[in-house]
Amino acid sequence: MEILRVENVSKIYGKGQTRVTALDNVSFSVNKGEFVAIVGPSGSGKSTLLHILGGVDRPTSGKVLIEETDIYALNETQLAIFRRRQIGLIYQFYNLIPILNVKENVTLPLLLDNRQVDPKRLDELLETLGLKDRVNHLPNQLSGGQQQRVAIGRALINQPALVLADEPTGNLDSKNSKEIIDLLKLSNRLYHQTLLIITHDPQIALQADRMITVEDGRIIKDEVIRT
Ligand code: ADP
Ligand code: ADP
Repeated sequence: MEILRVENVSKIYGKGQTRVTALDNVSFSVNKGEFVAIVGPSGSGKSTLLHILGGVDRPTSGKVLIEETDIYALNETQLAIFRRRQIGLIYQFYNLIPILNVKENVTLPLLLDNRQVDPKRLDELLETLGLKDRVNHLPNQLSGGQQQRVAIGRALINQPALVLADEPTGNLDSKNSKEIIDLLKLSNRLYHQTLLIITHDPQIALQADRMITVEDGRIIKDEVIRT
């Protein structure tokens, strides 16, 4: 079953002499539960693509459909709600809120939606993330690996259909990298979540079901690695 469809998406930044075509008429679709690695040289348009899929950067032209919703046809309020419920975004540099503790950072998407935290589910999630003895810590009291696990908790708390990660291990050593990828793979398998990861690490890319290569704003290769 198709969960994501990208139709003729282009993104142009700037104008005149600073005009850059970051994405040039990109189309592809992803099935529910797929784990897709997005690879390609620096500056090829990978982050731009992920941000457009995540509803945080509007394409210049083209459409993004997530579970048949044309996300850029929504108004800003509807899009913000859709994003919080359906999309989990994970960045290289965590983007945690420094004045909120671990529990508050993880549950933020629920609070913004005026929804109750299910204490049992939160407990299970913190246990899986290995953060149960860190619930009251602030981000700057945690190691890099722990901060990324908090960011993953925040991305997963709503059990989103689509999880998007931009170089999630780019700032971590190999042991922490492996833990983070194992967590994302576990969630992908357990909840049949669809996972797209931008990575420069061939070891990570080769664990995916499919590898999409982006170059100069275009998809130049789209390979099935395993079925
Ligand atoms: P990648 O993630 O593959 O490194 P990006 O998507 O970050 O590539 O960038 C693609 C191209 O778009 C690059 O040439 C970059 O300089 C340009 N770009 C990205 N973001 C912006 C922006 N906010 N304003 C102007 N140009 C941008
Ligand atoms: P890792 O094995 O993930 O690299 P570190 O060696 O960085 O972990 O940290 C070891 C422990 O010290 C972690 O449990 C972390 O919670 C704690 N810690 C790291 N930095 C700080 C800090 N600035 N303030 C308080 N505790 C910290």
